[in-house]
Amino acid sequence: MCATAPGRTLYRCRFADPPIREYLLSFYPGFGEEDFALLADGELVLEECSRCSAVWQRFAPAGRLLTTLYETWAAGDGGLDRHDDVAYHRAAGEEVLLALELAGRRPSEACVLDFGMGWGRWPRLAAAFGMQAFGVELSTAQATYAATQGVNVVSLDELPRARFHFINSEQVFEHLVEPRETLRRLADSLAPGGWIKLAVPDGSGIAEKLEQPDWSSRALNPVAPLEHLNAFGRPALAELGAQAGLRRVQPPLAAFYASTIGLWPPKRIARGLARPLVRRVAPGATFFRAAL
Ligand SMILES: [Zn+2]
Repeated sequence: MCATAPGRTLYRCRFADPPIREYLLSFYPGFGEEDFALLADGELVLEECSRCSAVWQRFAPAGRLLTTLYETWAAGDGGLDRHDDVAYHRAAGEEVLLALELAGRRPSEACVLDFGMGWGRWPRLAAAFGMQAFGVELSTAQATYAATQGVNVVSLDELPRARFHFINSEQVFEHLVEPRETLRRLADSLAPGGWIKLAVPDGSGIAEKLEQPDWSSRALNPVAPLEHLNAFGRPALAELGAQAGLRRVQPPLAAFYASTIGLWPPKRIARGLARPLVRRVAPGATFFRAAL
């Protein structure tokens, strides 16, 4: 993963061989026998970086395979009705308020970006709270839709320098072929003292789980074949940020409480008691900050 660090191979299996064969056929409802042709002789190879301990997939889908993967096989769970519910909007609304708290300025002067915005719900909420909101999205269909809803759509290559006070990235970095390069670019676009929220599946202990892998269990979701190209544990996340010149910083407790909307349902209160209080908004996310 880190360019200079030789890796250790944790797992290797051809896509057309068991147990990955069965995984693909059962995980993707739209995946059929004929689809193995698209994977040719590819194989799932999981490497652990000796420097940062991130676990990454050597085989990264590109071209027609990439399109088919996200627009056909995995399309079922990414439609426009995804997140069209109160729970999502409450949680995202709290995150948007947290972004505003951390930006530490009037809404109209706060500039935020959602990297990997999907259909653009997060930047639309940020805009509704008065912020200047931008979004990056690789899927043309989703980016086009977001633009029709008033989102300022930009590409990673044209991000302004030293502009954003808060960048949101929710379940994106595990999919990226070049997470380090990408985070460096995002870091360049942060205003002095700006924040990045990075939420990814928890890749802690994945090397141990791969010693006796059960591909039918959720435990291996952080290394889901073809999709989750990077699994980050805590040390790997810290190193990822450090290589982009960012510090890992836990936002102040007061900012989390100030961003809470209404009373929490009992399940969330219980979760808050079981975990540190600071994790009640954006649970499990990692926060990085640019130098002031
Ligand atoms: Zn590394």
